[in-house]
Amino acid sequence: MLIGAHVDYEDPLAEAAARNADVIQFFLSDPQEWKPPVPRTDTAAIRDSEVQVFIHAPYRINVATTNNRIRIPSRKLLIQHAVGAAEIGASGLIVHGGHVDKSDDLATGFDNWRKAMQQAQDSGALLPQTPILIENTAGGDNACARRFDNLARLWDAVGDFGVGFCLDTCHAHAGGEDLLNIVDRVKAITGRIDLIHANGSRDGFDSGRDRHDNLTSKTEPGMIDPELVAAVISASGAPAVVETPGGVEGQSADIAYLRAHL
Ligand SMILES: [Zn+2]
Repeated sequence: MLIGAHVDYEDPLAEAAARNADVIQFFLSDPQEWKPPVPRTDTAAIRDSEVQVFIHAPYRINVATTNNRIRIPSRKLLIQHAVGAAEIGASGLIVHGGHVDKSDDLATGFDNWRKAMQQAQDSGALLPQTPILIENTAGGDNACARRFDNLARLWDAVGDFGVGFCLDTCHAHAGGEDLLNIVDRVKAITGRIDLIHANGSRDGFDSGRDRHDNLTSKTEPGMIDPELVAAVISASGAPAVVETPGGVEGQSADIAYLRAHL
């Protein structure tokens, strides 16, 4: 099983080595901005590396929204980062499921997802070796990929475009989806899990809050049982990255915990 971490994008291979990571995830630009991938000097080194690489798209992207001023640039940004991820030899580009506003019908959000994937396909940015991986999210009542009944409707809209799925254990727990047998429930909808985000949660079940915690933190009642996270990884057979706090030290401890419990 390949285990690793989300790392800073300045020197991701050094970050991988510092954590003894088999797999890493990083951004190609500041995730809070509307920016295309920043030019890099280490693209060849990353491509040639033994370390498996995933790229996370900027947080700004919301292809589901009915707001044109967000939806249209989101499509463009998603395509730019898909191209950048493919250039670096990544195994996938992770993007959040997005949401529509309170007053909007989620059906419009799913249809907007379909249109975004159609545009990405038409532009040549949907590559089987670097698929777009939709990640489940923790909060909001109008999210496309928080609750799995909605995830099933999303997959009806985008499943034919060769997209994959990234399962975040913090988001599932805080979003109100039980981690017990979750791999079977996801695969019944998506048919695949490409990556696990192996995170603890600072908040309780169905809290709707997205605050990652270390796996090795002292577990309070009602929080994520770290053994369950290891069980999710084992059941999925997918690589896993921790998106947990504490830098090299905190993440290395989480990686070591998972290796010991798989
Ligand atoms: Zn995540």
